[in-house]
Amino acid sequence: KDKMSAARLDRAVRYALERTRARASEWHSPMLRLAHQQFMKAAQMLDIDDNIRQRLLFPQRTQLVSFPFRRDEYDQVETVFGYRVQHVLTMGPTKGGVRYHEGMNLGEVSALAMWMTWKCAVMELPFGGAKGGVRIDPTTLSFPELQRLTRRYTSEIFEIIGPDRDIPAPDMGTDEQVMAWMMDTYSEQKGFAVPTVVTGKPVVLGGSKGRKEAVGRGLVYVVEEAADVVGMKLDGATAAVQGFGNVGYHTARFLDEAGVRVLAVSDRSGGTYNSGGLSVEHLRRWVDEHGHVEGYPEGDALSNAELLELDCDVLVPAAVENQITAENAPRLGCRILAEAANGPTTTEADDILRDRDVFVVPDLLASAGGVTVSYFEWVQGTQNYMWSLEQVNERLRELLANAFHRTLERSRDEDVDLRTAAMLEGVERVVKAKLIRGLFP
Ligand code: GLU
Repeated sequence: KDKMSAARLDRAVRYALERTRARASEWHSPMLRLAHQQFMKAAQMLDIDDNIRQRLLFPQRTQLVSFPFRRDEYDQVETVFGYRVQHVLTMGPTKGGVRYHEGMNLGEVSALAMWMTWKCAVMELPFGGAKGGVRIDPTTLSFPELQRLTRRYTSEIFEIIGPDRDIPAPDMGTDEQVMAWMMDTYSEQKGFAVPTVVTGKPVVLGGSKGRKEAVGRGLVYVVEEAADVVGMKLDGATAAVQGFGNVGYHTARFLDEAGVRVLAVSDRSGGTYNSGGLSVEHLRRWVDEHGHVEGYPEGDALSNAELLELDCDVLVPAAVENQITAENAPRLGCRILAEAANGPTTTEADDILRDRDVFVVPDLLASAGGVTVSYFEWVQGTQNYMWSLEQVNERLRELLANAFHRTLERSRDEDVDLRTAAMLEGVERVVKAKLIRGLFP
């Protein structure tokens, strides 16, 4: 009975692995490759010491967990992989969202954590970067399944999160309900309410006013500055937005409020185009009812690829990474590319866009509104003092405008694009902090 050939054992292991969704190569990720390329460029220009370079290429702390997850059909139990990655512990607690997506692996989560480090540093927030993830397709989850998954994931990473350690927030596939469950699970284990363990929670639990719409609002603040620089008036300008989740919707909404004609919007299912401008609220209601953008009756159908190449003043990728590539960059029809997604543009595309004089507002600035208001939420929580929406928005605008102009100045001084300048600002700040803290022992 105990005689099993190696091939048979291999087969059995392979079968089990396939069922558990384990990945042979956890680090393999195009996102990590892009994050590494962007970092290396800044590291070369700043002439950073070799050992610090190596330290910053990989996260300081990674937690990979696998745990059983029960579907609503009681006898159906799956093994699920979860991650929490802390890239830099030098700057203060670590900060970053939690992403539920079928493509998550250690490399993806690490790339996203790295970007959070630079984003916080450019914004001068007292945080290092982190990110969490669960490898699962969230669209397959019922409401009770989402809750069970979230609670188990939270208890698996319980030891490394905390208000002074690492503070999760929403990202793709998660929202304020998920944050409420994370806060509840953490608090139950502690024995008292700990609202500051997460940000992006519902206002009734100590969330900040304005956090939910912060990425979209912040993006429009930054685009207003960028429009000034290129001599464009936003009132009467045109835009296209890829993605209609929390970020895409609020971006479209605030662009619309700023007088911009939103020509096209899309999601996973496809897009819709109306040359007279879409009614963002009407589209929102339609999507709530139907579950997708495709088929919206007040516009013509268009694909995600077509949306990216539309003639418009402002293009906003607000969905996934790797959208603007060497392939479509030569055909982009926008004047300003404002990145609401993390990592939507490849290194090759950056070079092409620079030659074509497209003004790229990098993710580190354009999408920084979320983590900035998360910082405000954490500050309000630690002080037990609530700010008004006006205070939140005013301070958000001030921090974003400062960071934008500091970065713009650097890009002019060093004759580099805005992404490189933002990376130089972010990396330099972290390296300075590392050097001045020194080496233990
Ligand atoms: N997930 C968001 C981001 O990518 C926000 C993170 C946070 O608020 O901590 O910036």
